[in-house]
Amino acid sequence: SIAPVTVTVTGASGQIAYGMLFRIAAGEMLGADVPIKLRLLEIPAAVSAAEGVAMELEDGAFPLLSSIDITDDPDVAFSGANVGMLVGARPRSKGMERADLLSANGAIFTAHGKAINNNAASDVKVLVVGNPANTNALIAMNNAPDVPDTRFSALTRLDHNRAIAQVVKKTGVRASSVRKVSVWGNHSATQYPDLSHATVAGEPALAVINDRDWVENDFIPTVQVRGTAIIAARGSSSAASAASASIDHVRDWVIGTAEDDWVSMAVCSDGSYGVPEGLISSFPVTCADGEFAIVPDLAIDDFSRERIDLSVSELEQERAAVRELGFV
Ligand code: NDP
Repeated sequence: SIAPVTVTVTGASGQIAYGMLFRIAAGEMLGADVPIKLRLLEIPAAVSAAEGVAMELEDGAFPLLSSIDITDDPDVAFSGANVGMLVGARPRSKGMERADLLSANGAIFTAHGKAINNNAASDVKVLVVGNPANTNALIAMNNAPDVPDTRFSALTRLDHNRAIAQVVKKTGVRASSVRKVSVWGNHSATQYPDLSHATVAGEPALAVINDRDWVENDFIPTVQVRGTAIIAARGSSSAASAASASIDHVRDWVIGTAEDDWVSMAVCSDGSYGVPEGLISSFPVTCADGEFAIVPDLAIDDFSRERIDLSVSELEQERAAVRELGFV
């Protein structure tokens, strides 16, 4: 029989986790034959709500769900963790300064990085969803010196999926026919969704679309501010789509990306494409055997260069701010 995989989810009583946990338990993330041990981390005030979520998970009678533990102690939560999905983060509240937001999240992700370092399984893979996701991942990574930097990532798969969705709407093809979309930089409004290398039904996407004005003035801003549009329409932030993208991210990292395609993940830069080493920035990546590799040797034109640089400079500013606060 296959050994169970321990999956730790933080912010486990929140909206995104609510969309995630049932799919993880159903085997949609790690495979239909892999038993799951769930570890739910919450702040003390939300432990009771997490117990309610655990009751619902029990009531799913999922054959693969071998245990559920709920705790407010990060050391317990990450003990033996093979996969860490860091969803819990301090949201910006009214009147909160940017520095306050960075220091509240800096404290959380410092603690979680240390707990991962000291307790997780040797093969741990970490996905940070809680915002500011790239910089929270940077802080966790820097507080886990014994864990390879390549085990830390932040979510830009939702942006990647949103980019595919816009191309689907524009061209009428199925989502599976849109390949090699790239998202570069920060998971923020400066991100650069890039169709330069994308294909639609095997043909160059930009040629199929043949509408540069749409790409620059509709596609890019629509993907960049999609989260805000959903808040305006729904009255609360995107949760199910963020959960679904998180499942996609971990599944492809563990199981591998499709032949002739790639995905976007924010990972520690090795200096590729001029992104300063050590920043957690989104790149097109392929995955195999549980490891990602940044897609090499893509031609970057002036238009793309300018947009990548803009988003990366925002990441550098965030890094400078959390350095000043002593988190990295
Ligand atoms: P959600 O589950 O809706 O969101 C959680 C985090 O994901 C937020 O930081 C949110 O950012 C971020 N996020 C990333 N991508 C997206 C996206 N595309 N759309 C929406 N959100 C995105 O928040 P809830 O408030 O429902 O739940 C958070 C839970 O975390 C609470 O239960 C809280 O108790 C817990 N928490 C746990 C901590 C811990 O484990 N130590 C610490 C702090 C909180 P944004 O804020 O920008 O929307």
